[in-house]
Amino acid sequence: MQRWNGWGDDTVHVDLPVQGHNLLCELLGKGNVKADYPLEKFINRIPTSRLPHHTLISTNPKERLDHSHGQSLPDWISLRGGTLQHFPDGVALPSTPEEIIELLDFSEKHNVVVIPFGGGTSVVGHLQVQEGDRPVLSLSLKRFNRLIDLSPTSLLATFESGVLGLDLETQLMARGFTFGHYPQSFEFSSLGGWVATRSSGQQSSHYGRIEQLFAGGELVTPKGILRIPPFPASAAGPDLRHIVLGSEGRLGVLTKVIIRISHIPEKDDVSGVFFPSWDHAKDAVQTLAGAGIPFSMIRLSNSAETMTNLALAGHEKQIALMRRFLRLRGIPEKGACMCLVGFIGTKRFVKTARRESFSILRQYKGVSVGKEMGEIWKKSRFRMPYLRNTLWDMGYAVDTLETAVTWNKVATTMEEIEKVIKESMAPWNEKVHVFSHLSHVYSTGSSIYTTFMFRLSDTPEETLARWKTIKKAASQTIVKAGGTISHQHGVGVDHKPYLEAEKGSVGMSAIRQLCFHLDPEKRMNPNKLLD
Ligand SMILES: Cc1cc2nc3c(=O)[nH]c(=O)nc-3n(C[C@H](O)[C@H](O)[C@H](O)COP(=O)(O)OP(=O)(O)OC[C@H]3O[C@@H](n4cnc5c(N)ncnc54)[C@H](O)[C@@H]3O)c2cc1C
Repeated sequence: MQRWNGWGDDTVHVDLPVQGHNLLCELLGKGNVKADYPLEKFINRIPTSRLPHHTLISTNPKERLDHSHGQSLPDWISLRGGTLQHFPDGVALPSTPEEIIELLDFSEKHNVVVIPFGGGTSVVGHLQVQEGDRPVLSLSLKRFNRLIDLSPTSLLATFESGVLGLDLETQLMARGFTFGHYPQSFEFSSLGGWVATRSSGQQSSHYGRIEQLFAGGELVTPKGILRIPPFPASAAGPDLRHIVLGSEGRLGVLTKVIIRISHIPEKDDVSGVFFPSWDHAKDAVQTLAGAGIPFSMIRLSNSAETMTNLALAGHEKQIALMRRFLRLRGIPEKGACMCLVGFIGTKRFVKTARRESFSILRQYKGVSVGKEMGEIWKKSRFRMPYLRNTLWDMGYAVDTLETAVTWNKVATTMEEIEKVIKESMAPWNEKVHVFSHLSHVYSTGSSIYTTFMFRLSDTPEETLARWKTIKKAASQTIVKAGGTISHQHGVGVDHKPYLEAEKGSVGMSAIRQLCFHLDPEKRMNPNKLLD
């Protein structure tokens, strides 16, 4: 069963290795352990539903609680601290397109706000219920999750939008295909959610971001159904897929989704390389990205992240041996940066691409540690989010933020983001541990993905205030640097104040008009993406 107040399956627990715990105590102090607000208290507090009766709608309090939030840190703080105030009036679990249309008709008739709910893994407040006079319906796509069609000839598959990553990939794999879209939330996030938030998978350098994988589909809007056929390519005016991508539930409910699929590759290879310093490492991956070598992923950790990841990884003996090897090869412990580089394709292709890449990386003093680090990463990549539960239970909050900038700004933007985050904790006389990696690397620039950890404070209100201060300082820094406010998580409520800086006033009014055109009564997930 899914945890009601944390990440993932409640039977899975990931331990924090002793070195990891020691590191956090040293950097932040002993965690401030807080008791969780009990489920029963929430259940008793859920107000009577304002919705008229409908056979497809449940008003069960637990169901309503489960659909009142996503997985952002503010969501967690309000859930685990008991400050969550607003809940949907009901949850609908349609299983056919006709039921979805019926529910939108019902919402029109009774002036009901509708929040499409995919996997519930949003990290920017997309699913928060806002105070208002109108009743709120969470429209969950959980039961709308079947494979409708698969064309091995055209390499296209059509799924219902609520299918979760793991189910989708299992069904494709059983037929010899893969989608290759692996966000870290893969187990619990849905196909419709990926499209609606413009998600990016860990091996997007090979398979493409969701915008390259989303071939077409159907969006049920309050104005009617928008149907987008899966052309291999088209020059017929603006591409309507791009109004669905990133629409965050504002324009309607994505029902059918047509995706581009691939044959299961012969080889999916990830290796580890260490560099003596950030400058060497950054220049190396920038050169690699510019050289046109088709890697499947590059994940370059700065020295703070390298040190933290090695401490959190466990595998003490292996890491001690590796450190000895690296020292002999001229990689100092302090300042070293770890990079994971992956290749996908036939055995021959992978061998050649790997050789070409490593000859470039060696020019920047890169030292390969082989495939073991890659294997450890592959095995643990979907388990790492469970560490958030463990850390919270030990009294620490963890959050991440991300942007993308052009290469000329990558190093300075990363440094500035980390600096302002560290400074933001000064009013509380508390420390924050910050580290970053470049997670998706392009020829023109890179995404920057920053993680920060700090101690919980005595009250949820104060923990939230700490988070807000950090988030604001980091977001302002991103905007000042000319970065995007989100490379992969979307806008929701947390990034809304910074969207205009990116889109400009003409762009904002175009988006606003589009929302107004398809949803004139502002019933679809209002106040997310923009006001
Ligand atoms: C631990 C963790 C790791 C993560 N890692 C990544 C990562 O590597 N890459 C990445 O891109 N993101 C990542 N995310 C963020 C999140 O998983 C993505 O934003 C994901 O795309 C959300 O999908 P979902 O199905 O959970 O959508 P939800 O959270 O349910 O909804 C998100 C938004 O999409 C809308 N929506 C959902 N389904 C539909 C639909 N069918 N029609 C219309 N609108 C819809 C909702 O209304 C809402 O506005 C991570 C999140 C967590 C918690």
